[in-house]
Amino acid sequence: MSRISENQLILPALYLMDISPNKTILIADMKKALYDIFKPTGEDNEILHNRQDTRFAQKAGNLKSHNTLVNLGYAVYTPKVADERSGRFTLTEAGKAFLDANINIVNYLLNNDFTSEDLKESFDVVFSDPKRAMTIETFDEDLTINEGKKKVVKTAVYERSDKLRKKAIDHYTDGGRIKCKVCCFDFEDFYGDHGKGFIEIHHQKPVFMFADEDLEQKIEDAIENVMPVCPNCHRMIHRTRNNPLSFEEIKAHVRNDLDFCDNEN
Ligand SMILES: [Zn+2]
Ligand SMILES: [Zn+2]
Repeated sequence: MSRISENQLILPALYLMDISPNKTILIADMKKALYDIFKPTGEDNEILHNRQDTRFAQKAGNLKSHNTLVNLGYAVYTPKVADERSGRFTLTEAGKAFLDANINIVNYLLNNDFTSEDLKESFDVVFSDPKRAMTIETFDEDLTINEGKKKVVKTAVYERSDKLRKKAIDHYTDGGRIKCKVCCFDFEDFYGDHGKGFIEIHHQKPVFMFADEDLEQKIEDAIENVMPVCPNCHRMIHRTRNNPLSFEEIKAHVRNDLDFCDNEN
């Protein structure tokens, strides 16, 4: 587990300003919203010596005390006035431009259901090269549920995700059958022909790539981070928002006397 860094918070902070009325947000509110987005755990959530705050809150506060956002030209700082609880940040045109250039990946990471650790790692990748990040292409999961929405999802995202889905089904099909990796439910076994090939593909980690990367290779690499699951297990994995269960965690909740379902696969 890596500790939260200030850089990982920059794009989410700009995003929060952008969705606030008049593109301005109290720093106290921004810190709280960042906390809600990242749901920090472990060391990030430890209270630091001689301080009232967690390490995470301190890093979020550094966006102000280190003048990080102001020095980058992405925000203007206005000190606390009258009865306000704190000073505020207002998004600048440069901040808005930087956010817009990276908005696809920001939307993907913030609007899906990823762990704190995955968010930190992903924002590190994105911020390491903001120019290249502008070309990031994302993948969606839940294509089975969202089949009806297919037309409104950008075709490129749909096609990319479908390719990953098909490769994953291929990979996890055994003896012509695909089963839920968690509870071993087999739709064909239960529903006959009507259930043949039915399964959802859960992304255990965010799947995205830079445009100059090779799609086939990316999919190859992503296979071990996706898994076939039935809709029931899928919902259970995502039951607590921003805290999806790992394979081991969901498996630990499943009755262990199901003799048709071993823990080997
Ligand atoms: Zn299942
Ligand atoms: Zn999922």
